[in-house]
Amino acid sequence: MSSVASRSGSREQVQRADFGRVSVFFGEKNGKYPDANQVLVRGSDTRAALDAPIVSNYIGAEFDATELVIMGHIHEDHMAGLHRLPDVPVHVHEADLEAARSWEGLLAAFGTTDQTRVSEMLARFTRDFFYTPQPGARGYVDGASWDLGQVQIRAFHMPGHTAGHCVLLVEPEGVAFIGDIDLTGFGPYYGDASSSLSDFRRSLARLPDIPAKVWITAHHRGVYTDRARFMQDLAAYAAKLDEREQRLLEMLNESPKTLVQLVEQRLLYPPGFDGPWVIDAETRTISQHLAELVADGRVQLREGVYRSR
Ligand SMILES: [Zn+2]
Repeated sequence: MSSVASRSGSREQVQRADFGRVSVFFGEKNGKYPDANQVLVRGSDTRAALDAPIVSNYIGAEFDATELVIMGHIHEDHMAGLHRLPDVPVHVHEADLEAARSWEGLLAAFGTTDQTRVSEMLARFTRDFFYTPQPGARGYVDGASWDLGQVQIRAFHMPGHTAGHCVLLVEPEGVAFIGDIDLTGFGPYYGDASSSLSDFRRSLARLPDIPAKVWITAHHRGVYTDRARFMQDLAAYAAKLDEREQRLLEMLNESPKTLVQLVEQRLLYPPGFDGPWVIDAETRTISQHLAELVADGRVQLREGVYRSR
């Protein structure tokens, strides 16, 4: 089921796996960020790409023949091949549409608060991801479907990572592209302004209901063909939410703290870990867990100080 295509412009080779009319091209380091895995679907009428990560620039004619792009969600690492397809329609869930259409929309979805970072981010995205906004992107909604000829794609809105994050199911092959519900050891990421912890929880609970036989993550894990192993990794991934909540409670058990103090200690990343987005992501992640804990009475908030009960 696995064969090798040559990586044009370099001696490295892009690994691939084929499932009927669906092909997966693995990004570098199995699609670890900044790369990701590319899914292509060959209908008898239309050829579609699901996302367009960095690896799409090394596939060659098979990617460049794409006639329709369906985005599972909008982040820079999933858009890196769109510059190769300037006249091809790009479909995006309506909740991620503004993020696709303009740089300002993408910044708003990230929730970037530090204006001094904006030009540096744009330069990095342009250099590393060939970033091009998609002003002509078209919106789709939950349940949208595309008939490519002898193969159909159906969108399941599974928000949380971003507001418009979707799982794309290819039928009759039963291949589900689950995007950045990536089942990595890091756990779920919901640190953007457009992210939602509570939506992520609901999406993780609904994911097993999708009638798939093969699951493909955008990053790292790659392909699952065994439902038991998929369910096991999904459970471990979902358990990360409880682990984070538990660690937060332990920090508050040590002593009452403000949000700023909790962010200083880090929840997502190791203590002392830094990057231009880290404070914003930690603040939003911790805030969402605190809101849940305050709502169910396990944590008390008084005058800006959180304490466990
Ligand atoms: Zn993402």
